[in-house]
Amino acid sequence: MPNPQLKLTSEVKYLKGVGPTRAELLAARGIHTVEDLLYYTPFRYEDRTHLTAVADLAPGQTTTILVKVMTCGLTRTRKGTYIYDLAAIDASGAPYPRMIRCLWFNARYLERNKTFHSGQHVFFYGKAETDFYGTGNLQIVQPQFEIIPESDTGEAESLEVGRVVPIYESVGQLGPRVLRRLMRTALDSLGDQFPELLPASVRSKNSLAGRTQAFRLTHFPDGQQSFEELARFRTPAQIRLIFEELFNVSAGLALKHRKAKSAQGIEFRVTASLRRDIKTILPFHPTDAQKRVLKEIADDMCSPRPMNRLLQGDVGSGKTIVAVQTALLALSNGYQVALMAPTEILATQHYLSIRHLLEPLPYKVDLLTSGRNTRAKAELKDQLSRGETQMVVGTHALIEDDVEFAKLGLVVVDEQHRFGVLQRYRLIRKGQVPDVLVMTATPIPRTLALTLYGDLDFSVINELPPNRSPIVTRLVEEQGREQAFEFIRNKVSGGDQAYVVYPVIEESAKLDLRPALKMFEQLSANVFSEFKVGLLHGRLSSAEKEEVMERFKNGDIRILVSTTVVEVGVDVPNATIMLIEHAERFGLSQLHQLRGRIGRGRKKSYCLLLASDPRTPEADERLRTMTEANDGFKIAEIDLKLRGPGEFFGTRQWGIPAFRIANLLRDQEILEWAKREATEFIERPESRQEFDAYVSFLRNEWSRRYGLAGVA
Ligand code: ADP
Ligand code: MG
Repeated sequence: MPNPQLKLTSEVKYLKGVGPTRAELLAARGIHTVEDLLYYTPFRYEDRTHLTAVADLAPGQTTTILVKVMTCGLTRTRKGTYIYDLAAIDASGAPYPRMIRCLWFNARYLERNKTFHSGQHVFFYGKAETDFYGTGNLQIVQPQFEIIPESDTGEAESLEVGRVVPIYESVGQLGPRVLRRLMRTALDSLGDQFPELLPASVRSKNSLAGRTQAFRLTHFPDGQQSFEELARFRTPAQIRLIFEELFNVSAGLALKHRKAKSAQGIEFRVTASLRRDIKTILPFHPTDAQKRVLKEIADDMCSPRPMNRLLQGDVGSGKTIVAVQTALLALSNGYQVALMAPTEILATQHYLSIRHLLEPLPYKVDLLTSGRNTRAKAELKDQLSRGETQMVVGTHALIEDDVEFAKLGLVVVDEQHRFGVLQRYRLIRKGQVPDVLVMTATPIPRTLALTLYGDLDFSVINELPPNRSPIVTRLVEEQGREQAFEFIRNKVSGGDQAYVVYPVIEESAKLDLRPALKMFEQLSANVFSEFKVGLLHGRLSSAEKEEVMERFKNGDIRILVSTTVVEVGVDVPNATIMLIEHAERFGLSQLHQLRGRIGRGRKKSYCLLLASDPRTPEADERLRTMTEANDGFKIAEIDLKLRGPGEFFGTRQWGIPAFRIANLLRDQEILEWAKREATEFIERPESRQEFDAYVSFLRNEWSRRYGLAGVA
């Protein structure tokens, strides 16, 4: 029923079926308006025009079934882990219906939440396989599901069966069924003329579907489209929405890039004394790759345009010394330098090694982290604002409002993927137009990088320092634990040092830290009692962290038990062994980063991945990848495939908001197309009027969605 009051821009609470609670849940996901809601598109579709009968299911088949729950509950394995086990049947195969099992590992929440009970009718979606129990029945491991409530009305039913059904990711408590009904209501209430966002010339040139139709058919395909195209997100309706999103982002970045290029920056100069200084402080000969990227950076800095450069290099490729040389260029020209790192430990380590390197030169280097005492911080801030401290290394504390610089000329951001775009901009704004170098170990395919970092130029260190031998990585099952300890004991007796890493993900909760603490006690008191064992985690005070790191670095501590706080940047070349507990719980990129702590010197290094059962197939794949690959590029690509770009390119990783419908892995060719069209439109618009209207739309959109002003 059309409702003339309701517009795309209306707040979502005015939609029938959305009360204050739902409005709040939606808002938490960034869904404020009806339009936001419609952009929350299905992540896949199910063809429920024909459901598969359980009796006809074959192993290996991925499909949807509609069944009735017989029994369900939690069972405990011999190893003390939990499996949630559900048995169900459908009407097929009567009078002896064939049973199907569904299993979830460690899913105690299903028991706690009383999600299932017998007699329920449920859709399950997943891959059928022969069951673990050898009964000849089929099972689905970790299926997706949708429970049909008993009270269901016929109207809702028509959205669930006998058609191609859109599947949405749940928003808090709101499951796909609720979302489906909200989408239906929204589309039924809105009129047929959604305002167009894309410039008319772009639309007609590229024969793109209209916006209203695009939304309608993306949410509720009408049976005209092939299911295969729909599943690949390649119906005209889907293509139109994907194109629109990628066009808008590309156009925004193109405008930003153009603006940055035309700004007046600092024209640094390379002098003979700078060359001498660099020679004095360099502890080794740079690799060819390091020399090449340094030249790219120096060329940028010596031009009157501001530098915005991304330096990418795998873990251990030697980015730090490039950053130090870059800093010297700025310092020697009388400018201040700020280097921001994502963790206190990394910032502290950079500070200590840079201070040491710059010792023979007349520059004052200091450290700013929130953990330092108030007096020291106040003094440092004072000196920075008066220009008496020339270089500061720090954490997020650097972007606080009361940090001011007298003459900030260069900003370096290490491990860029840990920061948001916003944080980078905040630091940059502390100078007039400083040059900017951001560094990351996480490689991304070039076309994607160009879009994500369209405002940055690119340098790559594609070579490791000499004499590195590849890290040997082995998977160790629980029963091999003693042997692994023995191996570590041997190596450490021979003079090496080792890390033992425990997965504490969220260190705000004390509870979570307990296993790592227990591990430390056990290792220091029993297993490795003959060695000095240290403990490092995020909840130690700054001074304590600094002390532990210092003692590990100087060799006093031989074995360091740590949480993932050592993940980025930590550099102790004599440490050659890393044992990772519960390796099955870590993501691939994280494992690669962790492993990057070893293999930093000439000695052969070993990474032992201790893994417990039961494990998901993805966990097995991650572990196998680690034992087979050492190259960060390859690992990132596999990670991207396993996790899907939603998570891979989520806000946390890249500091950009996740796309709403585009998927950078799936949509590369649409991305290239949209980027081409966007650049063309920005550089050579057909009419001034169209250009101005579009740019003003884009400016609003960027400040609303990305919180970024100054697109154009
Ligand atoms: P990342 O790129 O991961 O930040 P680092 O800058 O920490 O790597 O360098 C890794 C290790 O390699 C450090 O111990 C560093 O001193 C050493 N290193 C870097 N460049 C060279 C080089 N050209 N020759 C020898 N050792 C190097
Ligand atoms: Mg580093």
